[in-house]
Amino acid sequence: MTHLAGILQTTVAGAAVASAGALAYAVRVPSCSWLAPSVCRGTGARPAIALTFDDGPSESTPQLLEILARYDAPASFFQCGANVRRLPSAASEVAAAGHEIGNHSDRHPLLALKSPGFIYRELSAAQDAIEHATSIRPRYFRSPYGARWFGLRAAQQRLGLQGVMWSVLALDWKMQTAAVVSRLLQGATRGAILCLHDGRALKQRPDISVTLQAVRELVPKLIERGFHFEKVTDILCPTKN
Ligand SMILES: [Zn+2]
Repeated sequence: MTHLAGILQTTVAGAAVASAGALAYAVRVPSCSWLAPSVCRGTGARPAIALTFDDGPSESTPQLLEILARYDAPASFFQCGANVRRLPSAASEVAAAGHEIGNHSDRHPLLALKSPGFIYRELSAAQDAIEHATSIRPRYFRSPYGARWFGLRAAQQRLGLQGVMWSVLALDWKMQTAAVVSRLLQGATRGAILCLHDGRALKQRPDISVTLQAVRELVPKLIERGFHFEKVTDILCPTKN
């Protein structure tokens, strides 16, 4: 190998590592919109927090609705089409309580490395399932595992969906209640979008007791700190009263 060839090879390898890093960043980092436009926090114009719940509806969603109703706290639910077909009445209960419903794909696949056609069909099937059960056609999409991929931008555009990520991920599927609450309290700033879970992908009868207890403790603490709760649509709007 000549000296020049050696330099070139090193440079090409370095560029490949750098672009793999950039791609991983675009796929996973909530604030990056390179693969598909998304927001990860509200305007911060008001002391408002958006509570969002992914992976529902599940058998325990009605319990969560009861807790939210106690505080008159609106929230946004990113539901999976397959879960909506399994529990259509839980989905329509969420809508009837005045919460917002977003799209979280149909069967909760990792979208990375999937074809644009597959990605479009996942989003489109969930739109149809949610509309069928609740008469609401979602305007927001949250990608499973927060992973964006090539083709998602076009699918979102075709279906009129805005991507929504989060400013704080609760990790409520793996941490204990106290740790979840303290993590969320720490990240609760004006316009924050908190991401919790009222399901576990497509699992039937998932145990979401940590989430339920965390919400019971978190909501009154945030109210005490002067925050109120807004749906994603509202928290993104600078002029809501
Ligand atoms: Zn999910």
